[in-house]
Amino acid sequence: TVAVTIQEVGKSFGNGTPALADISLDVAPSELVALLGPSGSGKTTLLRIVAGLEQPSAGRVLFDGEDALSVPVRQRGIGFVFQNYALFRHMTVAENVAFGLRSRPRAQRPSEAEIRTRVADLLALVQLEAFGGRFPAQLSGGQRQRVALARALAIEPRVLLLDEPFGALDALVRKELRKWLRELHDRTGHTTLFVTHDQEEALELADRVVVMGKGRIEQVGTPDDVYDRP
Ligand code: ADP
Ligand code: ADP
Repeated sequence: TVAVTIQEVGKSFGNGTPALADISLDVAPSELVALLGPSGSGKTTLLRIVAGLEQPSAGRVLFDGEDALSVPVRQRGIGFVFQNYALFRHMTVAENVAFGLRSRPRAQRPSEAEIRTRVADLLALVQLEAFGGRFPAQLSGGQRQRVALARALAIEPRVLLLDEPFGALDALVRKELRKWLRELHDRTGHTTLFVTHDQEEALELADRVVVMGKGRIEQVGTPDDVYDRP
């Protein structure tokens, strides 16, 4: 598990106000940090820069002190989960989870037996042991997000990036998954950046909350630092 250092990162799309300005943030190994802010505050752009899906206009991103931006996206070791679970519809749950491993170059690909064992372990971890043979359309929204998380974890990522992973789910399921994710994180310990615009979600889940607004960091602290709680 790695430390992520974001140094003076800026991003301009060339249309007026920058999407990000002078963002600096140190994320400790195994820390779960929530990026909290309204729509348009730059959360997704920051996540995409850490993932390598977007180049910053300024600044640096380091993983364990080493420049991450010069490492090709596929070798950066990122597990990414999106709001609209990008599961492959024509693949079973197990095939979805195995996808990242099976698409590795032959030299880095585990054997088929190893892949099967790993997928079974991951499905157990996300409490979907019995669902490996189903298709995404046969699952609930919450179950699909758990598959998406298992798929992200399959590649043994160095950093886990979650972009409003529960945003499309109803309030009750969100609450359940929040607790579940916190427990999962306590067991697996991935360095995690979690984007949300839900204050309660950030409070309940994160070790630290980064409050963003208009492309800048407005506040950083533990949930207790950031909010007055009764
Ligand atoms: P958030 O995730 O907090 O909703 P975003 O990072 O998606 O915020 O967006 C931050 C700002 O950058 C917004 O003003 C958005 O319109 C702009 N932006 C994001 N992506 C692009 C893009 N590809 N081209 C132009 N502007 C963009
Ligand atoms: P938003 O931030 O507006 O909710 P998404 O998070 O769904 O949008 O997607 C953000 C971007 O990431 C999109 O441009 C999409 O093409 C890209 N993307 C989606 N799935 C993947 C993936 N598995 N790997 C890499 N890029 C992806």
